[in-house]
Parts: sequence; structure tokens; C-alpha cells
Amino acid sequence: MPLFQKFEALSQARKALLASGADPFNVVLDRMISSTEAIVNGRNMILAGTNNYLGLTFHPECIDAARVALEEQGTGTTGSRMANGTFAGHVALERELADFYQVGSAIVFSTGYLANLGVLSTLAGPDDVILLDADCHASIYDGCRMGEAEVIRFRHNDPTDLDKRLRRLGERATRTLILVEGIYSMLGDRAPLADIAAIKDRYGACLVVDEAHSLGVLGEHGRGLAEEVGVEKSVDLIVGTFSKSLGATGGFCVSRRPELDLIRYASRPYIFTASPSPSVVASTRAALHILSTQPQLRHRLWKSAEYLYQRLKDMGFALGPEPSPVIAALVETKEGGIALWNQLVEQGVYVNLILPPAAPNGGCLLRCSVSAGHTDAQLETICQAFASLS
Ligand code: PMP
Repeated sequence: MPLFQKFEALSQARKALLASGADPFNVVLDRMISSTEAIVNGRNMILAGTNNYLGLTFHPECIDAARVALEEQGTGTTGSRMANGTFAGHVALERELADFYQVGSAIVFSTGYLANLGVLSTLAGPDDVILLDADCHASIYDGCRMGEAEVIRFRHNDPTDLDKRLRRLGERATRTLILVEGIYSMLGDRAPLADIAAIKDRYGACLVVDEAHSLGVLGEHGRGLAEEVGVEKSVDLIVGTFSKSLGATGGFCVSRRPELDLIRYASRPYIFTASPSPSVVASTRAALHILSTQPQLRHRLWKSAEYLYQRLKDMGFALGPEPSPVIAALVETKEGGIALWNQLVEQGVYVNLILPPAAPNGGCLLRCSVSAGHTDAQLETICQAFASLS
């Protein structure tokens, strides 16, 4: 059937991948032991690619909150808030997110992916322009596509290129949405947000920052890069996820602009999907409370991140430009990367294998994400596994 012919190339690529050893896209975690350890294919594995930055997935307060919600409110909401109604937990979580960010409005979405789709597609319509950093996440690209605005990419982390493109837009600069991330998910580098915010202010554009990887990681209170560099007042909207430092699933958008509340009534990815389950909302609320009251988790995370970054750097790995809880070792070829990934798995260390096009220049990334939950001994095992790669 011709319709299915398009899968032929994919099927061949998959066969080649399987021939090279374990299947990196079909790793089954048979049993979780903790936030940083699991049994995978019958063997103990240290999880070094979870995005579980604060290690909260097994925190007793998160688990208790989820359990109580499960018992009192059931397993799911079974529909969208527009149709089925809003659970009290959704409203409470939105209030708590707005308070945490010290803004007026927050909306909760079912995933971070949907938060980007929902916000970007509603905010930027056919007459508007989106200027996005070329390295932005797929959910940002998809949200742009859905909204029908003119989409222009600027060079990754290059404020001069952004400035040039805004200048060219003339009057239309005030109808432009600038999109960047706090910490970029592949190489762990940060946006030059102070420069970008100043440019945005100068042109009267609108700035959206996806803090998926920086919530709970950066800033004195854990609010992310905008807090860290002191530009929160210049950021119009912050998008984020519950699936990383908060250890659950779901997404959100917060803003000091009251119009955010209206996005709810026009956003298809908000309206036409089931709202987050009560247990997910409850564990997220508990995790947000822990994130905002226990800065020691963030300090532990950074100590471990800086340690692992330095150790891998000393071993000669080509890493992203700065220490961060996302630490990616660049490997020049796809085949080389797969072989090294297999060796790490053999030694009981699981990292993310990132292949082209997600990895730059046709290469491959062995992407680690550090967690506050990693023990010193686990970090040592991760280092030793990398040191033994040949
Ligand atoms: N934005 C960024 C920058 C991300 O890295 C991710 C997830 N990898 C998302 C959004 C989507 O988040 P979620 O997993 O909650 O859909």
C-alpha cells in the first residue's frame, strides 16, 4: 500500500540500529528502585538521563499527596475542564504557581508540550511574527506551526542576530513574539536572557521563556533563568513543565499579563484534551512546595552537576559550553555514539542517546542529566563508566 511506503526508510534505519546492539528507543524499566536507580533487563542501572533534577519522584510527601488524591478523587478527570468542570486541585495549583512566580495569572495544561502548543498557537496569529531561537524544542516549533504566524528563526543564543531581524521587521516588531529557553535541553547552555530582554524592551516585542529545564534549577527561589538574571519584569510569559524538577506530568504558563486567563477560552490544546489527574496535580503541588522551601536540593544538584561536568571535561569529552545539570558529550558519528551508549549500558549507566537531527552536525550526544538524588557513589560510577569508554 503506497501510503505505508514512507515507513520503509524508517524500518531500514531501525534494523541497522538493532544490529548495532541494544535498542536505545525501547528501554523498559522493569522496576524502579529509587529516583536514580532501576532494574532494566534484569540488571541494576543508575539512571543518569531522567530530567528528574530534584529527585522528587519518590519523595514521601509527593507520594502521600498523590495517594490521598487518588483515594478521595479517583484515578482521572475523564475530560477537559471546559466540558467536565475544574477540580479544586487545578485551581489551587494555578494559584500556587502564580504566587510562586509572583504574577497574577497561571494556566495548567496536561503536558508541557501542550502548554507550548496551547499558548503559542493562541497568542501568535496570521498577522503576527514569531522570532524563535533555532535550537528551541520541538513543542515550540509545533506550537508556532499551529498558530499560522510568520515564523523566523534567529541564530542560537545570538542577540545580535535577533536585534537585526527585529530591526528589519520595522513596525511589525510590536506584533512579534520572541521565544527562547532558560536552559537548552540538549547542550545545557543558557539563553543570554539579559541581552534578549533588553532588545525585547527596546522594540516593544513580547518575550516568552520556556523554563522547562530551569525551573527548580536556577534562581535564588528556583524560578528559573529570568529570576537568576533579574529580568522577570521583562518576560511576558513563562512556560514550563511538571515533568522534570517537579517529578510528574503536566505543563503550565504564567504571566503578569491578565490576558493570559483568556487564552483558556481560545486554546485548542487546553480545551480539547483531558485535564491532569487529581493524583498528578496533588504530587505536583507537593513538589512545588518542596522546590520552593528546600533550596538545599538545588545546591546539591549544582554541586553534583559541576563535579560531573568537570570530571567529564578532564577526561577530554567535548561538552556543552558551561556546567549545567544537562551535560552532553558530543560524539562525532552516529555509529560511534551508539557503540559508546551500549558500553555505558553494559556498565549499568543509563544516559540519553540523542541522534541526528536532534544532535548537532550529524553527530550524536550522550546526554546526562544530573539529579539532586544522585549519591556521591552513583556519580563516581557514572564517571568511571565514562572513563572506561573506548
Ligand atoms: N519544553 C522543553 C524545552 C522541553 O525540553 C520539553 C520536554 N523535553 C517540553 C517543553 C515538553 O514537556 P513535557 O514533557 O511536559 O511535554
